[in-house]
Amino acid sequence: MKSYVIVLGGGSGRRMGAQVNKVLLPLCGVPVIIRAIVPFTALCDGCVVVAAPQEVDTVRALLARYRLNRFVTAVVAGGSERQYSVQNGFAAVPEDADAVLVHDGARPLVDEDIIRRCLAGIEQHGSGVAAIASVDTVKLADADGQVRHTPNRSEVYAVQTPQGFRCNLYRTALEKAHRDGFLGTDDASLLEHAGLPVHLCEGSRENLKLTTAFDVELASMILARRNQAGEDSMFRIGQGYDVHRLVDNRRLVLCGVEIPHETGLLGHSDADVAIHALMDALIGAMGLGDIGKWFPDTDEQYRGADSVQLLMQVCERMRQNGYELENCDVTIVAQRPKLRPYIDTMRERLAQAMQVPQGRISVKATTTERLGFEGEEKGISAQAVCLLRAVSR
Ligand code: MG
Repeated sequence: MKSYVIVLGGGSGRRMGAQVNKVLLPLCGVPVIIRAIVPFTALCDGCVVVAAPQEVDTVRALLARYRLNRFVTAVVAGGSERQYSVQNGFAAVPEDADAVLVHDGARPLVDEDIIRRCLAGIEQHGSGVAAIASVDTVKLADADGQVRHTPNRSEVYAVQTPQGFRCNLYRTALEKAHRDGFLGTDDASLLEHAGLPVHLCEGSRENLKLTTAFDVELASMILARRNQAGEDSMFRIGQGYDVHRLVDNRRLVLCGVEIPHETGLLGHSDADVAIHALMDALIGAMGLGDIGKWFPDTDEQYRGADSVQLLMQVCERMRQNGYELENCDVTIVAQRPKLRPYIDTMRERLAQAMQVPQGRISVKATTTERLGFEGEEKGISAQAVCLLRAVSR
């Protein structure tokens, strides 16, 4: 199922007393809208951001700074009402999309579990709308405070976003609302208006919508707690190790530098063992599995892949997650050839790919005194460590 997320970033921020749009403000160092988009990058195929017309360029620049400009396929201008904004966003969703999720740019604490539940709801029921059971008894009252009705609390839910739908259902609902001049305060109500079923799935009490200054305070506290739990740490350390076999008729590429030698490394990609160890260290530092999960060697698209390109993708994700490389240290273990003449070029190549100063990158080479597979020139191994630092928060 191909899914896209529409993120609404066109709010005015007036209720928070801020001069600028609240979704552009930093929350613990990272802009609210960036935090609202990043959890979708692992689960959706792309994103359309709806921005206030005068802020389209600002939003584009922000997305570029956080390397989200590949995941976000379009930034479109919003309309005078929320529903018109979503409509503009929906028009920019690629035609091959099966499902669309709508998410408030002002909900920066959304997590992958909530998104997964919405996607599962769409798969099984055609829609998945994040909601939480009400802990408060809700009363319907007149403007003068006279209570009219008390709904049964067990049937009362507060809906959040993401709200996800099969594209055909959502299109039908939008068209019907347009014909009838119906304006809903959320997207699910458009389906309800069209007589289409809406399925709720479990949201989270942490999935706050930043509306008041108090919400911002609460969100900062939740992020601080996640920080202590290690989900959002100031520093993250990673370690990586890789081995490739030396064979005839293959190129020898180490840290993106091709080195003349009578044998080369065997592998599905270009077999750059040093970059593989480095990527494994970075992925490990982020707690996101390993290189095999990211770039499976059973996947044809990675046959002969340039590992520098893969490293750039990993660094993109690192920045999206709000981290910068503090430093890394790579050790290549090879009996031959002599690697010293290439070390500076390797560091230069890595610095370029990772977009950091060369001073943050160390590459070393060693032999094993002819001991072991490296010493017998059957293969080359590499080890890497890295330290990531959270971007100013
Ligand atoms: Mg490898």
